[in-house]
Parts: sequence; structure tokens; C-alpha cells
Amino acid sequence: MNPTRIYKAAIQILALFALTVLIPACGGGGSGSTGPPDPKGAGYKGLQVLYGDPHMHTNYSDGDESPDFALRYARDVANLDWAALTDHSEHFQDAARAGLNYYRTLPAKYDEPGRFCVLFGYEWTNLYYGHRNVYSLDNMVPLFPSNMDEYFDIDDWWAALEPYDVITVPHHPMIDSPYIWWEYTNPGVEVAVEFYSKWGLSLRDGNPRPIDNRRPENGVFRALGGGELRLGLIAGSDSHMSRPGLYLEESRQGHALQYEQPGITGVWAVDFTREAIFDGIRNRRTYGVTGTLVDLKFTVNGFIMGSETTAMNPPTIWVEASSDEVITEVAIVTVSTIGVKALEIYTPNSRNFEATYIDNSYTSDVAYTVRITLANTDMAVATPVWVDYEPPRPVV
Ligand SMILES: [Zn+2]
Ligand SMILES: [Zn+2]
Repeated sequence: MNPTRIYKAAIQILALFALTVLIPACGGGGSGSTGPPDPKGAGYKGLQVLYGDPHMHTNYSDGDESPDFALRYARDVANLDWAALTDHSEHFQDAARAGLNYYRTLPAKYDEPGRFCVLFGYEWTNLYYGHRNVYSLDNMVPLFPSNMDEYFDIDDWWAALEPYDVITVPHHPMIDSPYIWWEYTNPGVEVAVEFYSKWGLSLRDGNPRPIDNRRPENGVFRALGGGELRLGLIAGSDSHMSRPGLYLEESRQGHALQYEQPGITGVWAVDFTREAIFDGIRNRRTYGVTGTLVDLKFTVNGFIMGSETTAMNPPTIWVEASSDEVITEVAIVTVSTIGVKALEIYTPNSRNFEATYIDNSYTSDVAYTVRITLANTDMAVATPVWVDYEPPRPVV
């Protein structure tokens, strides 16, 4: 090897050393060598946010209008990117068989990649374990209603669903119930929780727009506080007027309307297809808004919402948000075994916001989330990034 080639080889080794050792050590905010080097928003590159309403009822159960009306309303009036019909499975037992067969054709009838996508869904309405919605790309998933004895127990229900590729999502979880919903888990299947709908916010006792007849232990932050249950956060309308995505009015069928602002879910999806939306929910790349849309990105050490990572040094939290409504408050919040804590509160009074914050109080496992509040009192809440504390390695 001539001297020039030795020199080049030495440069290459030095460059490799810099790439693999030096850069992650100083640029990853302490996330170790596995994290992306950019602590800001590069993790969202290649993803697009798609807004949808995952929860509505039609006259196939106890809603006002036809399923066609609801999906056209979502697409043409509310201008949503996606929707899911979630009629009560318990009602289909009495419905004509043709009705259910038609219901199963609706996702394919309306699904139009790049414009509007539809997930197959239905609601399993169980007053003991808490209501759950089921979503799938498979339009033939059986209904397994909770008013049949064999599907009343939640573990029996999940066992019946096991052959199918589904996800299940509790909704208005903070409502009073004999059992605590989050004590019944199904990892990989129960992947998200609907923290807001017309019934109110289910984050924790004392949150604005509270649910009537609530049970504090059922709050979503209580559920996530232990650190083991790691669910995506989504929001839906639960419209019984079959009018998803826009401000709600009382249903003709007399369904109670606690709050008129509809929940909407933002999903970070790799493309504009129902497969990518389903994948985004399953992988927790979601946030919920309580009426007004907010474009929201946030990362911890470069990891996007819904991620899990480890860190030994103070993590870097980055937030970027914009909305047509003025953003009055941005809170960086931790959820952990010691409870819910606002680490930092910004009051931008602007339609655009960006900030970077380093959590010097970091000493143990924690979930970071971001709560945005708008001038009209609407909010956006992101699925956390879970950071597990990695103690410093002993010096050898
Ligand atoms: Zn329900
Ligand atoms: Zn419902």
C-alpha cells in the first residue's frame, strides 16, 4: 500500500469513527447511538398528516341518517381525509341481513386513495368493561356483539377477534364503569384510546370539558402513568346525527349532546391510503383535536409522537404547531408514576409556534406529550414519546 492509500484509509477510518461515535454522542441529546441525529422534525419527513373522524353512528344503529349520508358528509361537507363508520354491532342482529351486507361494501364504495379513505369499523358497546370500537382493513370481520353471552366478557371477545387483523380502541374511557378499562389490555390489538368526543375529555380529573358521571381512575393519563400501557391518543365525534367532523347539533333521536365540538384525529401516514392510515393508528403516529384543526409535530431526541426510546441525559423536546385559530398556550407535559406535570408552558398568542426545550429534571422513565390550547378553547393533544431512563454506564 503506497503512502497516499494509507493516508486515504486513515481518513476513512477517522470519518467512520466520527459518524458512528462522535456525532451521535454530541448530537442525539443523550439518546445513545440508535437515535436519529436531528433532534427537531426530520423524523416526519415522508409522512403526511391525514385528518379523520373514527367514530360515528348512522341509521344502521341509533344514528339519524344513512351510512351513505354520513360518509358523503365527512368527505364533501367536513372535508375530512378519512372516516370510519362505527355502528353498534348489537343493533345489527335485528337488522335485515342485506343491511349488514351493504354496510360491509361501504369502505370499498367510498375509498378513493389520495382523496378520501374509509376504514371498516363497528362499536362493541359494553357498559361493564367500557365501550370499544373495532377497526380493520378487512370489511368482513364478524360483529361479535356484547349482548350475546359468548362475547360479553372482553377476553372472550378478543379471543373471537384473534383470527382477524383488527385494532380495538376504548372511547369516552373516563365514564364511570364497574371495571377499570385499562386493567384489560390486549397488546398489539388495543393500540389507541379515544380521549375526546362529544361526551367530553377523558384525560384526567379536573380537565376542561369534563365527562358527566366520571370515574377518576379511568382517566387516560392515569392509565398511561404506570408507563407499561403505551397507547396512541385519538379523538372522534361519536356523532349520532351522522354528521362527522363539524360542529354538532342534538340528534333527532334525542341523543344527549354534552359538547358540540367534534373530535378529529390527525394520523401521520406514509401515503394517502386506508392501509397507511390503519398503519399510522396501529403505530401510534396520532394526535387528537377537540374541534379546530392544528398541524402538530413534536419529537423527543428526534423521535416522533408514538415512539419509544431510551436516554441517559436530559432529553430534547421539539414542538412545531400551526392553526387557523390563535394558539394561546403550548404545554410540554410529562406523564409518569408521579403523575401529570407541565414542564414548560408557552403563551405564543400566534398562529404559528416552534420551540425546543431540554428537560433537565429528567431522572427516570417518563412519557412526554404536548397540549396545545387555542383562543376558542379547543385543544390538541399528541400521543406521547416514551423515554426509558438508561443509567450512565460505569467508567471502565
Ligand atoms: Zn359508545
Ligand atoms: Zn359510539
